[in-house]
Amino acid sequence: MSLNKYVVGLTGGIASGKTTVANLFAEYGIDLVDADIIAREVVSIGSDGLKAIEQHFGQSLLLTDGSLDRSALRAQVFDNPQQRLWLNNLLHPMIRQKMLDQVQASTSSYVIMVVPLLFENHLDSLVDTTLVVDIAPELQISRTMQRDGVSKQQVEHILASQMTREQRLAKADNIIDNQGEYELLRSQVLRLHQQYLQHAADLETNVND
Ligand code: ATP
Repeated sequence: MSLNKYVVGLTGGIASGKTTVANLFAEYGIDLVDADIIAREVVSIGSDGLKAIEQHFGQSLLLTDGSLDRSALRAQVFDNPQQRLWLNNLLHPMIRQKMLDQVQASTSSYVIMVVPLLFENHLDSLVDTTLVVDIAPELQISRTMQRDGVSKQQVEHILASQMTREQRLAKADNIIDNQGEYELLRSQVLRLHQQYLQHAADLETNVND
């Protein structure tokens, strides 16, 4: 990475526990850069992203308060690869730049970048190491159904749109097993935190040499 900062890419399938794990790192004072939050910011009211979408698709994509009608946008790009490509070409560079800006602005020893589709969107090129939160698909289904009140079929649909568990694990530098009780996460996070602090210190030494 060109930034003088050690960056950990945290990922995992739907409801694997990314947010839960990220918040444990935050308890140690580590800054989080959250791709989902940034993805919303780049199309917020008054943003260049929203203006470009309005120009391209028209005003029907806006709600009465001027914000983006996300479901209308989804309908526009669903089953339309050309429009989806246009949208991705617009938003992905903006999201990428904002993530790098936030890494640069961070003052913690290292940074955790939380990116649900880290590998799918090739954002692993932005990070120094990858950390996958892992649970079995059956648990992903039950935890999502419980959290979001959605049907099994809806979760299965989302699962099918993401990388498989095996593909994700094959790409991971480190793995956190989140199939047990919450308490079991804490020790795994602490061990990794100590490891990342060491890598960050090594990076600093190399930079200053
Ligand atoms: P998404 O991909 O949908 O953004 P996520 O990967 O960030 O989800 P979380 O929101 O952290 O996942 O966790 C998903 C759900 O599972 C939440 O309701 C959370 O409270 C619950 N959960 C997380 N870890 C555990 C655990 N070890 N035991 C039981 N429930 C858990």
